[in-house]
Amino acid sequence: MKTSPVSRRRFLGQITTAAALAFAPHWGRAVDRPAPARKLGVALVGLGSYSHYHLAPALHRTQYCRLAGVVTGDAAKGAAWARDHGFPATSVYGYDTMARLAANPAIDIVYVVTPNGLHAEHCIAAARAGKHVICEKPMANTAAECDAIIAACRAAGVRLTVGYRLHYEPHHAELARLAREQVFGPFKRMQGANGFRMGSPGGWRVDKKLAGGGPLMDMGVYLIQAVCMAKVEVAPVAVTAKFDATTRPALFSEVEESVRWTMEYADGAKADCHATYAEGVSRFRAESDRGWASLDEPAFYYEDPVLTTSRGKVDLPNVNHQVAQLDGMAAELLAGRPSIAPGEMGRRDLAIVDAIYASARAGGKRVEVLG
Ligand code: NAD
Repeated sequence: MKTSPVSRRRFLGQITTAAALAFAPHWGRAVDRPAPARKLGVALVGLGSYSHYHLAPALHRTQYCRLAGVVTGDAAKGAAWARDHGFPATSVYGYDTMARLAANPAIDIVYVVTPNGLHAEHCIAAARAGKHVICEKPMANTAAECDAIIAACRAAGVRLTVGYRLHYEPHHAELARLAREQVFGPFKRMQGANGFRMGSPGGWRVDKKLAGGGPLMDMGVYLIQAVCMAKVEVAPVAVTAKFDATTRPALFSEVEESVRWTMEYADGAKADCHATYAEGVSRFRAESDRGWASLDEPAFYYEDPVLTTSRGKVDLPNVNHQVAQLDGMAAELLAGRPSIAPGEMGRRDLAIVDAIYASARAGGKRVEVLG
C-alpha cells in the first residue's frame, strides 16, 4: 500500500469526536494560510450532478487541492473528464479497479459522491488503497455502515471526513459560534424545515436500497446538523417522528415523501423538524431565554443564507460552499488539525436518522438515540 505524501501516521487518533468537536470556525482559515508547495490531489468517485456542477468547478478554484483523477463506471466519460480537467488518462479508474489508486501518488484524497447506499463500499475501497476519504452526506444508509467505514479508515490510518459543506460556510459557522460561546445562553427551542419538490422519475433518491430513505436522508440531514450545531455538537437523547401522508404514492412507493420529527435534549431543549420532497422550503431558527438566531431562506441550499439574530442581521462574507469546504478540509489535513466534519460526526447523524425512522415506523413512539 502506498504511503500518502501527507503522512498518515500524523492523523492517527486525531479524529476522535471529542477532539474534532472542540473546534473554532474554520471557514476563514484556509484563505489566511500561504498556498502549499503542492496542492493535494482529489479523485472524485461518481460523476453525477454534484460532481459535475459543483465539486469539479470548485476544484479549479481551490488553493489547497486540485482535481487529479476520477472513478467512474463509464470509461469514455472518464477519458473526457481527463481531457476537460487536465489530468492524465491513467488517473481514470473504474469502481472495480479502485485498488489501483494505491499506486497513484498524485491522488491524496478520494471523494465519494455516489448514491448513499454505495458510500460504504466506495469509502472502504478508497481507505484500503491508502487514500484519505471524504464521503458525501449522508455518510451511509445506517450507523452500522458508518461503523464499517470508520473501522476501515482507522485500519488504513487514513483520515475520514464527511462532505458537510455548511460547517465551512460563514453563516452556519457563526450559528455554531453563538452556540459554543453561549452568546444567548443555551438554545432551548428550535424549528427547521428543508425540502424541495421531487420531480418524476425520482431516480436513485426514491430507491430504498440506494438512498436508504427519502428526504430525511437528503434534506433532513442538514436539519440534524443545524440542531446539533446549535447544541454545540451534542446529539439528542431521544426522538419522536411521524411520516406525513403520501400525496404521490406512485413516486414514493419505497421511501417517505415527508417526515416530521422532534429531537429532545438532556437539558430539556427541543427541536421540531420537517424534511420533505413535496415542497421547496429551507429555514432554521433557534431560540433561548435571552435571544434567538434564524437562518432564513435559503438556509441550506447552495446560495448564501441570511443569518439574523435578536441583535439584528449578521454581516458575513458570501463564499462558494464547495470551495470553502474543499479548501477547509485540505488545509486541516495539511496542518494536521482535526477535521470539524469527521466521520464520527457523520456516524452520529446516522444514529439519529436510525432513531427517527424507528420512531416513525412505530407510529411516533419515543425512541432513544443510541450512541
Ligand atoms: P447523481 O445521480 O447525479 O450522481 C450519482 C453518480 O453515481 C452518477 O455518476 C452515477 O453514474 C453513479 N453511480 C454509480 N453506481 C450507481 C448506481 N448503482 N445507481 C445510480 N448511480 C450510480 O447524484 P448526485 O446528486 O450527484 O448525488 C451523489 C451523492 O452526493 C449523494 O450521496 C448525495 O446525497 C450527495 N450530494 C450532496 C450534496 C451536498 O450539498 N453536499 C448535494 C448533492 C448531492
